[in-house]
Amino acid sequence: MLIIMKLNSPRSEIEQVKEKITNLGYIPHEIPGEARMAIGITGNRGKIDPEIFLNMPGVLEAIPVTKPYKLANKDFKPGSTIVNVGSEQIGTKELTVIAGPCSVESRDQIVEIASSLKNMGIKFLRGGAYKPRTSPYAFQGLKEQALQYLKDAREATGIKIVTEVKDTETLPLVAECADILQVGARNMQNYSLLEAIGAQRKPVLLKRGLSATIEEWLMAAEYILNGGNNNVILCERGIRTFETATRNTLDLNAVPIVKKLSHLPIIVDPSHGIGLWEGVIPMSLAAIAAGADGVIVEVHQDPANALSDGYQSLKPSKMKILLERLQLLAPIMERTLNLNK
Ligand code: PEP
Ligand code: MN
Repeated sequence: MLIIMKLNSPRSEIEQVKEKITNLGYIPHEIPGEARMAIGITGNRGKIDPEIFLNMPGVLEAIPVTKPYKLANKDFKPGSTIVNVGSEQIGTKELTVIAGPCSVESRDQIVEIASSLKNMGIKFLRGGAYKPRTSPYAFQGLKEQALQYLKDAREATGIKIVTEVKDTETLPLVAECADILQVGARNMQNYSLLEAIGAQRKPVLLKRGLSATIEEWLMAAEYILNGGNNNVILCERGIRTFETATRNTLDLNAVPIVKKLSHLPIIVDPSHGIGLWEGVIPMSLAAIAAGADGVIVEVHQDPANALSDGYQSLKPSKMKILLERLQLLAPIMERTLNLNK
């Protein structure tokens, strides 16, 4: 439920409403608006009777929130969430570009690709240290060693690091390296991990699960928000359908739907979405045309010999072409690209 206070209602009335909510065993969330205060309620299992609040001083309206996700809901927070990553912002009019290899393979590899992306103006480097692979025999990542290489790449270039956290055990280590923690598709419903990430404040890139509905995905975001970490960025990366010509089906429908339902920023991963490098440029452009706040793209200096996902990785020269096309598209969407000049 959302309690809307009257214009200029004094602090004492707001506090009374919050106290009432707490006394009922629920949790109040202040949602300051331009003109008036709203107070969201979470923690209730069933419906709340609006009459409880309607005759309290200062209360204008009590609106039931029908969606199961409350904190991720646009009704709870009108406007858009902007996630601060150091001096950078995600979810503004400036589109975010994250690029880099699927996996960190060596110090030289990651520092070299970081430098070449940095030279294109890119501010965020992706690279997996802990790789959750479908096969236990596939390359599992260089783990702690890779975290050190990512730090080296940041030190050499100033680029910000996006890397996946696979479990709660390694969260402190990964969080110490990452500027943005990535939660992979396979972990979208790992609730212990979501709770642990909610309990810290590092920004999170929350990928959509392989077979998750948009509502399930927003409920996963809710776990993180409920822990007090508001720095959630959603990432559409394709879902499983009957189609076999592509690795996944990139659900660009999710972009306008998420924009309608939630205030959280959403970026798109066309690399895993289509799973073929030839499709990555067109699907990146389509993502931005659909209203996404940015893209995360796999780029490798030698895709044919990459240790993971080479077939869907762009060469740096192709990434350059993608940036040129994004530069042309951005103004049509009334946006700009957040790149170093
Ligand atoms: C990745 O980003 O390399 C990855 C494993 O992605 P996903 O979790 O979307 O499969
Ligand atoms: Mn990958």
